[in-house]
Amino acid sequence: MAREMIETVTGPVAAGDLGVTLSHEHVLVGSPGVHATYPELMDWEGIEAGGIEALREARAEGVSSIMDATPFELGRDVRMLRRVSHSSGVNIIASTGTYVDIPRLIWHTHPDRMAAVYVREITDGIEETGIRAGMIKVANNDHALSDAEQMVLRAAARASNQTGIPITTHTQPLNKVGEPQWRIFAEEGVDPARVCIGHSSDAVDFNYLAGLAKEGVFLGMDEMPGHQLNAPWRDKADMIKRLLDAGFERSLMLSHDWSIKKHPDDSWGATEEIHHQVNPDGYAWISRRLLPHLRGMGVSEAALTLMTVDNPRRFLAGE
Ligand SMILES: [Zn+2]
Repeated sequence: MAREMIETVTGPVAAGDLGVTLSHEHVLVGSPGVHATYPELMDWEGIEAGGIEALREARAEGVSSIMDATPFELGRDVRMLRRVSHSSGVNIIASTGTYVDIPRLIWHTHPDRMAAVYVREITDGIEETGIRAGMIKVANNDHALSDAEQMVLRAAARASNQTGIPITTHTQPLNKVGEPQWRIFAEEGVDPARVCIGHSSDAVDFNYLAGLAKEGVFLGMDEMPGHQLNAPWRDKADMIKRLLDAGFERSLMLSHDWSIKKHPDDSWGATEEIHHQVNPDGYAWISRRLLPHLRGMGVSEAALTLMTVDNPRRFLAGE
């Protein structure tokens, strides 16, 4: 049964009011405990102020909600997200789950025990803030999954089955990691409509993406324009068009995977300066550049609305 209300960092919002929703973004990307232990490593106030400014800009371009794919292991700070949401006017959906560096403590934990943690963050809230996770994030880079990675995927699947909350993934698409992720979710009996295989915009094999879409999962076309200078974003737009022409308009969601970079020697492979050269518009790039480009390629307004409004709502609400 579809959920009428979606949990955001400022409380429940009617699914029908989410509007244009970006499916995979971040404000802060860090590591757990860094804020408390190595506070001088990052400009925390700058990240918060930058997030507010960039989201206000996106709001002026029609973006009203973002899914924040930042679980605990990426340094999640839901109190900061709540302030950013209040000040920017953009709804933010927070994540439970984990990222690629699974905390050592849980490597040998039973999936049911981890699922219970994820369920608690979905039903009771995160860190006694009362802020509830609206989605579950998992992340894998290799086609062969380690035991700990399989445990986390099963935990995410069981938490999703118990709550109806969807799962969003990070993949290395060139390794076709969506395939083993979906295989485990399917073994666990997850509804494919509760799954988004992320970073699918970086895949170059149409058959890989079409195969996943035929299973019924969503594809996150969420590395737009990407992180590299001279990123071939027009090729990614061509892949979106090809998938639309093949009838997968109800399978695609759009996003940037943007974050606010405010530390001097960026560990994610690009300085803040390069980050802004690649994407000068932040969370507004899709509105300003991709949607006009897709219109120019003949993509219909109906398809654009599906990818930016209806599919994210269907994914979050379980329609
Ligand atoms: Zn991300």
